[in-house]
Amino acid sequence: MLLFYQQTSMSTPEPTMKIEDFIRTIPDYPKPGIQFRDVSTLFQDPRGFRMAVDMLLHPFAGQPIDKVAALEARGFILGGAIAHQLSVGFVPIRKQGKLPGETIHEDYTLEYGEATMEMHTDAFVKGERVLLVDDLIATGGTCEAGIKLIQRANAELIGCAFIIDLPALGGKKLIESLGADVHTLCEFDGD
Ligand code: AMP
Repeated sequence: MLLFYQQTSMSTPEPTMKIEDFIRTIPDYPKPGIQFRDVSTLFQDPRGFRMAVDMLLHPFAGQPIDKVAALEARGFILGGAIAHQLSVGFVPIRKQGKLPGETIHEDYTLEYGEATMEMHTDAFVKGERVLLVDDLIATGGTCEAGIKLIQRANAELIGCAFIIDLPALGGKKLIESLGADVHTLCEFDGD
């Protein structure tokens, strides 16, 4: 397992913080009963942010990736950094009504109601190999909508990468059952 290593006076690397140590939990946000897993504390720490980008990319090292796609909004922070690291293009998958050009859309189910994700029709060239990223997978509905958009654009999904998995909500299993390779860095109990 990858850990952040700090140089000691003996120049011996010692494991210190794990990725989950950088993540703050805010209870009852945005509504009562939700444990909000806040990655802003990870992003604001230079070691935490670097470690997250490196660990998300680790299983895909050596694989050809043509573009990184990410899910609004925290996924954009990771996706931009990962695309820059790979020197490839970045594609935002956004909530309805935010993209200015011609779009395709996919509806998906939220805990209460429905939502829609959109992507520009010219985001991919046919056959491009895509890595999809976001901060967290819960039910997997947002990710599934993103995958459908990528596939409808005739691009090839090579994998999905998330910092956090909430296994109680089953999203990782759902996306794996669709045949996708899903990589997560840490887990939290509950929702
Ligand atoms: P889902 O579609 O259910 O997999 O939800 C994933 C999306 O909702 C991601 O973009 C997350 O940022 C956000 N999300 C869902 N649950 C939480 C949570 N407990 N803490 C933080 N973000 C969450």
